[in-house]
Amino acid sequence: MEPFGSSKWPDHDPPRPNFLPVAARPPDDPPVRPPIKHSSIAAIMFFFGILGLVCAGAYFSGELQQLVGGSSVAQGQQPRPGVVPFGQRQDRLPGLEEADAPLGKPAPLSKTSTSYKFLAVKEDGTPLAYSPCRPIHYVVNSDVAPASWQALVDAAVRRASLATGLKFIYDGPSSEVPSTNRSGYQPARYGDRWAPVLIAWSTPEQVPRLTGQTVGLGGSSSIGLSNGYKAYVTGTVSLDAPQFAGIVDTPNGQEIGVAVIMHELGHLVGLDHVSDPRQLMFDEASWVRDYAAGDLTGLAQLGSGPCSKDF
Ligand SMILES: [Zn+2]
Repeated sequence: MEPFGSSKWPDHDPPRPNFLPVAARPPDDPPVRPPIKHSSIAAIMFFFGILGLVCAGAYFSGELQQLVGGSSVAQGQQPRPGVVPFGQRQDRLPGLEEADAPLGKPAPLSKTSTSYKFLAVKEDGTPLAYSPCRPIHYVVNSDVAPASWQALVDAAVRRASLATGLKFIYDGPSSEVPSTNRSGYQPARYGDRWAPVLIAWSTPEQVPRLTGQTVGLGGSSSIGLSNGYKAYVTGTVSLDAPQFAGIVDTPNGQEIGVAVIMHELGHLVGLDHVSDPRQLMFDEASWVRDYAAGDLTGLAQLGSGPCSKDF
């Protein structure tokens, strides 16, 4: 499988076999495909869509470290003309937009749960996260997106922002296509700052890991400083445009589409899959359409990381 980002990182999300929840059919009964009627298409498409939540959050690249006062090119990442290795900016602007305190707070938890898992945990035991003291800028490549893409992204980002307290800012459209070697610094395209988060509808031809039932991929790239500070600075959400078109073109399709993006945004800000089917970060088929108690407990921690003016 072709991993996103550093090939040295384990793949958090190997493709899963087709999975049918036990509750979806009586024990010992062979799967029965009902006649396709209008009323059943929604259920079938819903299940199809949620199956598509099998996805990945594995393309963050924690090995790529910027060292204060020096430069560090990650192993195997030799500079190429016109390409700035992740973690290196030619003209560093540390602390760009960084406030002295978090820009927001996670929504209060009505119920906590231990049903969450972080993609990465730092040496001090806290999760690898974005700085809550600067906004997370994002751009959208909607070239092959469904017509309703903006409402779906808005709704999903709003939910992720509420749950984490992280502030998201939409910077507008982008023609950038997701890449396994995406640079975290692209001054020609985005100016002298960390590249914004890219949310892109793509085809499996453009993003091979979307091949098969995977409808989305999400994850972020981190930077580490010599003082031990480590944080995500940018990331990517890739959505399978053909599958997505099939999902949203159903009676409940918009809601499912939002749930798919919310799941990927969960990966983006640092949540891994869990084995609890009540959570939106469950890694297989599920009826969940919103962040549940475990998701929210994890997201609240991911929005409560330290500030830093050093990167
Ligand atoms: Zn996932």
